[in-house]
Amino acid sequence: MGETIMTPKTALVTGAARGIGLATTRLFVEGGRRVAMIDRDEEALREAAAHLGDAVLPVVCDVSRPEDVTRMASSVRDGLGRVDALVNNAGVADFGPIAETDFARWRRVMETNLDAVFLVSQELLADLCATRGAIVNIASISGLRASTLRVAYGTSKAAVIHLTKQQAVELGEHGIRANCVAPGPVDTKLALAVHSPQIRAAYHDAMPLNRYGTEAEIAEVIVFLCSDRASYVTGQVVAADGGFEATGIGLP
Ligand code: NAD
Repeated sequence: MGETIMTPKTALVTGAARGIGLATTRLFVEGGRRVAMIDRDEEALREAAAHLGDAVLPVVCDVSRPEDVTRMASSVRDGLGRVDALVNNAGVADFGPIAETDFARWRRVMETNLDAVFLVSQELLADLCATRGAIVNIASISGLRASTLRVAYGTSKAAVIHLTKQQAVELGEHGIRANCVAPGPVDTKLALAVHSPQIRAAYHDAMPLNRYGTEAEIAEVIVFLCSDRASYVTGQVVAADGGFEATGIGLP
């Protein structure tokens, strides 16, 4: 990854303690950038940040809580100044059918996967306007295709796709670009928790590339969309999914 692609000087990545968020943080840091690493898992965050040196500022925050988000944004401003790339990546997965998804389960998914994208983006709006920054929201192929078992997760991700388009349309006049990455299956803690052996086998069979993606492969797309190389790209959903969406096959 060359220096020219790494336009953002200061990025903020939510859900940065592990998985796709940590891989994205590493890629930004490799390009010489500073990153505010945001996560609610304090222990995992400290451990991840310890390997990345002075380039990162870890801030413990539950991004679904408005007062936490306000405090976090102020710590980031004090520590790193204004961010010019925001990656709304923190997410939770809870697969269940409609009949078994009680309201508390539904809300837990919505609070992190949807509400937090709105909250963090709104909190950082003035900073992004000042820097003419970029927003990348992480959705999922589950937000592109309805399926069994994913009523809350799929609905939250479909809403994130729409919220991204709203951001692109409304904030374009401030020079802010907003795009969305919809990953296919990636072997992370999140996927391990909800992908049964049946789901895994079905994905492997259905994927044109016959494999799960890696965290680093998704990070490349996120960092590209944050960079000046994507300067005329906004309001888009990029499916980084090994070709799954193109098959037209239903989600397992
Ligand atoms: P992961 O579980 O490995 O990492 C998610 C991180 O987010 C964790 O460190 C967790 O502590 C943090 N987090 C969760 N809720 C939070 C909150 N309220 N406040 C602050 N931090 C919070 O998951 P991942 O697979 O790397 O997922 C990253 C994103 O990618 C998620 O939005 C997920 O929905 C999306 N995604 C993942 C896959 C996949 O197969 N892994 C597929 C499509 C989309």
